[in-house]
Amino acid sequence: MTAQQDIAKSIAALSFPGQAFINGKYVNAVSGKTFDCESPIDGRILTKVAACDATDADIAVKAARAAFVKGHWRNMNPFKRKAIMLKLAELMAAHAEELALLETLDTGKPISDARAVDVPSAIQSIQFYAETCDKQYDELAPRKPDSLAMITREPIGVVAAVIPWNYPLIITAWKIGPALATGNSVVLKPAEQSPLTALRIAELAAQAGIPEGVLNVLPGYGEQVGQALGRHMDVDMVAFTGSTNVGKLFLRYAGESNMKHVALETGGKSPNIIFADTPDLDACAANSAAGIFYNAGQTCNAPSRIIVEESIKDQFVELVAKHAASWQAGDPLNPKTAMGSVIDKGQMDRVLGYIETGKNEGAKVAAGGKREMTESGGYYIAPTVLSAVRNDMRVAQEEIFGPVVVSISFKGEEEAVKIANDTIYGLHATIWTSDLKRAHTVARAIDAGTVTVNNAFGSDITTPFGGYKQSGIGRDKGVHALEKYQQIKTTYIQL
Ligand code: NAD
Repeated sequence: MTAQQDIAKSIAALSFPGQAFINGKYVNAVSGKTFDCESPIDGRILTKVAACDATDADIAVKAARAAFVKGHWRNMNPFKRKAIMLKLAELMAAHAEELALLETLDTGKPISDARAVDVPSAIQSIQFYAETCDKQYDELAPRKPDSLAMITREPIGVVAAVIPWNYPLIITAWKIGPALATGNSVVLKPAEQSPLTALRIAELAAQAGIPEGVLNVLPGYGEQVGQALGRHMDVDMVAFTGSTNVGKLFLRYAGESNMKHVALETGGKSPNIIFADTPDLDACAANSAAGIFYNAGQTCNAPSRIIVEESIKDQFVELVAKHAASWQAGDPLNPKTAMGSVIDKGQMDRVLGYIETGKNEGAKVAAGGKREMTESGGYYIAPTVLSAVRNDMRVAQEEIFGPVVVSISFKGEEEAVKIANDTIYGLHATIWTSDLKRAHTVARAIDAGTVTVNNAFGSDITTPFGGYKQSGIGRDKGVHALEKYQQIKTTYIQL
């Protein structure tokens, strides 16, 4: 049997989770309403999914609160809480192929990426946070011997995690890992475009021993169930990843309800600064192409703005266009495919619209620029390079979130930094140079949560991730992520 026949057989044997997961059980939305879960690979309807709304949000929040008040999870021996989370990671590993297939069918990302990156990274995140359960210590403030001032960390309570569609499994793990490790109850809302893996994880978590009500998953539309969670008077915190505009709505929801904590991981338009002294320009172009075309450009920290020194701009654009050829869109279920579809028709139309806007603004199409594989019934776009872009153009300022990179030129370090920082975002930046002093100086001058030098990639679960400016508030990943899921309490004792 070929690899693709094998995959077809595995898909035929898959069962698609479509119900909400509340208080340890799969249930329908109270309204009975559902929405179609469409695969962007070919437009096929995979299953119908519960369209939860404010009523379901209320039921799930009550279950989460009841679990928190009972305290089975937050007051559990930390060794046991760790063991249960490690068991969840083990179950995810045992179901790795099923999770990879669900993720690929739901999002159109290549099966090779789902297998090699999404599933293993999500497992690693759960393991990483499981290991923190029995390694966190509290503090004592400096005092005279007649008193004690204890500074202890406590879980916040009920956390609503609202996540996007670009890395559903990984971002689910980034949220539930630290939220559960610190003893909270969670109500997670996956994006309507990609609910399947989060729903499956909820069942695996129950199997691992996470008590009823501690992890609930509510699929549905953002304006309905997402907003209901954001405005809920008994949700203590929202941990959101998604667009900047929706992130701002969550700040408003919090302000108009109970002033819940809001942590935001939002958009990006990350500069990729190429100095003429870059050690290996071809390797830099290959890495830059991989950075933007991986996951069809639907990566919040993708290096989507090439900012290249004037003297090498034509040569560099040519090299990136050459490397774009190895990212041609293909069938996501073919293990050889490097770039799959975009998430849905709406996103495809939006990205194609930006390419037209760029052309109208004066950009030149150095590669791609069009829809592909129309006959598949899915939503594919050629890897696209737009050159001769100015930083004030819409394609340089707005997040396109597709396989489109723009190239802008600069003269001198000062102008490079000015262009890099001339954006509302501040999530990530990359610098290419062989001058160590310049690497440090420019890294310091860039307003971004992460700066990488001579590689557009380089972060993992150990490194905090989040944005300056309108790229967010707070950090995911690393041990630093634990802080946002905790309250700090001071207890003063007179001896
Ligand atoms: P989105 O903001 O449209 O949706 C994100 C989530 O919010 C979804 O679950 C959606 O249902 C919900 N939502 C939408 N409208 C809502 C509303 N009115 N009220 C309440 N909830 C609502 O984002 P998306 O299109 O799913 O994802 C792409 C965006 O996510 C990009 O901007 C990308 O940069 C960003 N992102 C950021 C990070 C990061 O860590 N900074 C990571 C991944 C993606």
